[in-house]
Amino acid sequence: MLSVWPVLASLAIGFFLIGTVVGSFLNVCIYRIPWEKSVVWPGSHCPRCWSAIEPRDNIPILSWLALRGECRRCGSSISIRYPLVEALVGLLYLGVFLLDVATTPRGPWGQFTTTQFAAAIYHAIFLSLLVAATFIDFDLMMIPDQITVTGMVIGLAMGTAWPGIRPAPASATTHLGGFLTGLGGLIVGAGLTQSIRAAAGFVFRREAMGLGDVTLLGMIGAFMGWQAAVLTFFLAAFVGLVPAAWKLLNYLRKWIGGGQLSSSDREIPYGPYLSMAAAILLFSWPYVWKGWAEGLFRTLRVLFWWVLGVENIRE
Ligand SMILES: [Zn+2]
Repeated sequence: MLSVWPVLASLAIGFFLIGTVVGSFLNVCIYRIPWEKSVVWPGSHCPRCWSAIEPRDNIPILSWLALRGECRRCGSSISIRYPLVEALVGLLYLGVFLLDVATTPRGPWGQFTTTQFAAAIYHAIFLSLLVAATFIDFDLMMIPDQITVTGMVIGLAMGTAWPGIRPAPASATTHLGGFLTGLGGLIVGAGLTQSIRAAAGFVFRREAMGLGDVTLLGMIGAFMGWQAAVLTFFLAAFVGLVPAAWKLLNYLRKWIGGGQLSSSDREIPYGPYLSMAAAILLFSWPYVWKGWAEGLFRTLRVLFWWVLGVENIRE
């Protein structure tokens, strides 16, 4: 019998390389989408000397290293963020391969199935959108609808075409079920964020979260189902705790030192932490769900009915 290891290793390398190429494209998206510019035309160019970037200087990660982070023509520095985003997306795609292809059941003859690759593509698209949303939100404190609404459509469409693509409890057996599961996730994700946004706006008398966070969690729900969307929202608060504390320290230091405070000292984007939380849950979901989330939601459901006065409900 032919060993499957060489195949798995080649696929793993392939996923990583495709990830770096997608990462390179996402760099363009992160830079251009907020300004409503086309992401395909014109080709990449140096922002300072405007010279077109040659194909040999456009190889993910390697070109930046070869050029030591400088433009070949004018020598102005190219941010290290470009190769880092490329490496990040490469690693995320490698993770998707391990999650959806390498460790999932294959067909009766040991062959890879369409479902495995559909799930891998589904998650690869999802993570790519999260990366783009994260960096645009870091840069500009906003998340464009081009990313989140596109994501909602893809999450709903692929969830309808392959109803079993989402892991339990969001997997479905019929096309309609797949669509409704995605729609439920979208409504709960967006609705939860909008409710808390409205409540916080009422209490603090200023905008606490952007509308982009509402559509982002809507997209996350469309991809992962409502339970994962709810957990993402709360996990994001924990993930964002350290940067928030850091920001507060800096704020206090400036304030005590009598320095000029800008609005950016007070604002923390929530989108990157929602995205990170969603990615963490995506990769740990089988353990998280079986380990404790399933029990947590069961308890919440019983509590919910108990509060409404309905006791002894059947499971
Ligand atoms: Zn240049």
